[in-house]
Amino acid sequence: MEQTDYDYLIVGQGIGGTALAWHLHDLGKKILIIGDSSLPSSSKVAAGIFNPLTGKKLVKTWLADDLFPYAKTFYTSLEQRLDARFVHEASIYRPFRSIEEQNNYLAQTADPGIAPYISSKPNPARELHYVQADFGGLEVVQSGWIDLPLLLEKSREYFSDAGFYREALFNVEDLIVGPNSVSWQGSTFGMVVFSQGFMALENHFFNWLPFAPVKGQILEIATEDILKPYIINQGIFTLPLSENRMKVGATYSWDPLDWEATQAATDELEAKLKGLLKVPYKLTGATAGIRPSVKDRRPLIGIHPEFANVGIFNGLGTKGVTLAPFFAGQFAGYIINGKELNPLVNIKRYFSLYFR
Ligand SMILES: Cc1cc2nc3c(=O)[nH]c(=O)nc-3n(C[C@H](O)[C@H](O)[C@H](O)COP(=O)(O)OP(=O)(O)OC[C@H]3O[C@@H](n4cnc5c(N)ncnc54)[C@H](O)[C@@H]3O)c2cc1C
Repeated sequence: MEQTDYDYLIVGQGIGGTALAWHLHDLGKKILIIGDSSLPSSSKVAAGIFNPLTGKKLVKTWLADDLFPYAKTFYTSLEQRLDARFVHEASIYRPFRSIEEQNNYLAQTADPGIAPYISSKPNPARELHYVQADFGGLEVVQSGWIDLPLLLEKSREYFSDAGFYREALFNVEDLIVGPNSVSWQGSTFGMVVFSQGFMALENHFFNWLPFAPVKGQILEIATEDILKPYIINQGIFTLPLSENRMKVGATYSWDPLDWEATQAATDELEAKLKGLLKVPYKLTGATAGIRPSVKDRRPLIGIHPEFANVGIFNGLGTKGVTLAPFFAGQFAGYIINGKELNPLVNIKRYFSLYFR
């Protein structure tokens, strides 16, 4: 590698750019992160839930057995380093909708791949007096949520203090790509990695990739009842933030793809919430964001087909919290030591779209 001012320039400080920054920094690389806090960010809207068993059919999250332990170590060690609390372990309680669903789910729990993610303790339904659960429910474990805004803020402070973060709007036209390095605003870098979430679509280096962004909305509500530390999941989720505040989400919509909360999405969530909660509540807020999802639901990570010093770390879709740490580790190994990157996340799988 030729001598440069920095090893890596990272554009975007969502959970993607931040997880990558920590890995490269810990491997002794000199980094500069560019972030513009005034721009929207999916990570700032996300509920931050990590859930090993998702969907109506209780499907195990892709690579859960690798991703979950890795993420846990990453986030808890970061908490210690940054002296902050952003990891909230919490079971996910899934009330059954019918006897039939109860039977189906209980049959599935015999699957040895799924069993470690289901609690064998007595059902917590009695504690959750404010939840409709006439048919009982299932308690998923090894789950919880990460307070992403706090993690991002604390990381930004750390990197700012070390001189590794700059607050700026990155204009891709200002990037000069040379054969062995890139330069931007008078500084040189061994490589640039774009981690811009949905805003990758405005970047000509990577806007040919098959992003399939999905808008989502989340509500915040207040109750008078004391909430227990369980995430409830039945079509929607409720996530307790304190003893009487919770987040409720999320919607999935495609048109328009903007960052504005809407009354229609609020109505959709409230209709579901009323079927799930037995107690009154007050709506206190609504936020919306755009998930950087991909057609094949796998991340978009790798090096540009023509420019060896231009990379991307994106496509974290609906699961940035679980995917970002593990694949930041893999990508760092790939760009530094040429270690293998899982072909299912490598953008090489889409190179034919670039060359057509
Ligand atoms: C409603 C909703 C709920 C969600 N819930 C969950 C959940 O419970 N669990 C989960 O794992 N995931 C969840 N997600 C998905 C999660 O938000 C994403 O997977 C993740 O945040 C993507 O992170 P990212 O860093 O790739 O993108 P982002 O968080 O969008 O970060 C990209 C960053 O790059 C910055 N940027 C872009 N262009 C520039 C530029 N030119 N100059 C400077 N900065 C730039 C942006 O401002 C932004 O800060 C949810 C998403 C939504 C919308």
